[in-house]
Amino acid sequence: MSASPADGPTRLAQKMARLIRTSGPMTVADFFAMCLADPDDGYYRKKEPFGAAGDFVTAPEITQLFGEMLGIFVVQAWHAQSEPRHVRLVEIGPGRGTLMQDVLRVVTRIAPSLAASMTVHMVEMSPRLADIQRQTLRDATPAITWHETLADVPGGHLFVLSNELFDALPFHQFVAEGGRFRERVVALDQDGRLCFARGAGSIDPAMLPQDAATQPDGTIAEVAPAREALMREIAARLRADGGVCLTIDYGHTTAGFGDTLQALRAHRFDDPLAAPGEADLTSHVDFEALAKAALSEGAYIAGMAPQGDFLLALGLLERAGRLGAGKSLEEQAAIQSAVERIAGSGEGRMGELFKVLAVTGTPVDLPPFARPQAAGASFVDRTGRRGHHRRA
Ligand code: SAH
Repeated sequence: MSASPADGPTRLAQKMARLIRTSGPMTVADFFAMCLADPDDGYYRKKEPFGAAGDFVTAPEITQLFGEMLGIFVVQAWHAQSEPRHVRLVEIGPGRGTLMQDVLRVVTRIAPSLAASMTVHMVEMSPRLADIQRQTLRDATPAITWHETLADVPGGHLFVLSNELFDALPFHQFVAEGGRFRERVVALDQDGRLCFARGAGSIDPAMLPQDAATQPDGTIAEVAPAREALMREIAARLRADGGVCLTIDYGHTTAGFGDTLQALRAHRFDDPLAAPGEADLTSHVDFEALAKAALSEGAYIAGMAPQGDFLLALGLLERAGRLGAGKSLEEQAAIQSAVERIAGSGEGRMGELFKVLAVTGTPVDLPPFARPQAAGASFVDRTGRRGHHRRA
């Protein structure tokens, strides 16, 4: 059941095999969701994914500058919205809590009246990670409350942040076959091992990007209703109560075709079926689909940009210079290399591959973006590429 013969099948792989024997093959979405979130053996429930000893490194774990720039974005967005009182600052999927720590430090320093009047809310599905976040943020002010879902966060003007959340939500895959797209499923091979197969279900090509009907056999299309549903939920809250959502993830700004399912284990790519529950699974986020989901709720797209452009426009280099001032050459070189990692382009760098999407409940000019775009308007496609990303 596992392609890692040294260890044998993981406990989760055995559980999946039993499930498939009794109920039939499972969709890629169900497989993905079980791998990450199974209550006993899911990756986020038991593994320590982040940092050098984990399976991957995220931008807030690379440098404090990332969270500080988001703090500056929050304060500027607060000014741009006429300084609403009683803001609820929300982070969904906060990992180790590092990003919020850096955001709060900046907000407290440059906008004390915002810090004094807002409440802070962490939305985390993993009790284990929520404990780590509590530890990281034990001295934080203002006080923070934890919730399992966004629906549990009380109403009010929202500032929602998420980094590398949407790629962790499940998605379906469909495979082109004679002009149709059939759902890709996880089944058992003759030896009882997990394998990919074609399922019985199919999707209407009208729900897929243009030219779906003429794709060659074997082409994979990815569809993520869970991601779109979360964005619609956020957008509906922003429409009702006002506010901003800043979503950062790696992915593409125009929908396309291709298999982007990836497993990462100890900073290396792994076969996604090899060790369920032991490897982090991700896929590229379709930002066009997220933006359309937000627009469908009547929310506004304040901007969409590559992460590098966004951070540089917020003053990343100036802040990095101040952080390095008076430090040793070694420390300055480390800051420089972190800046390149989060804002540069090319192999192993996040600046171009990661995208930033800002959604608002009302039409508002939001720095560092240009004019907001109303429902129905097309949004800027800055790169439009769909590369293969090395996340580790
Ligand atoms: N934002 C962090 C962590 C990214 S990993 C960082 O940048 O370092 C994804 C995070 O999202 C984890 O904390 C995971 O437990 C959480 N998560 C995944 N699905 C979730 C969901 N449906 N609701 C809330 N949190 C979720």
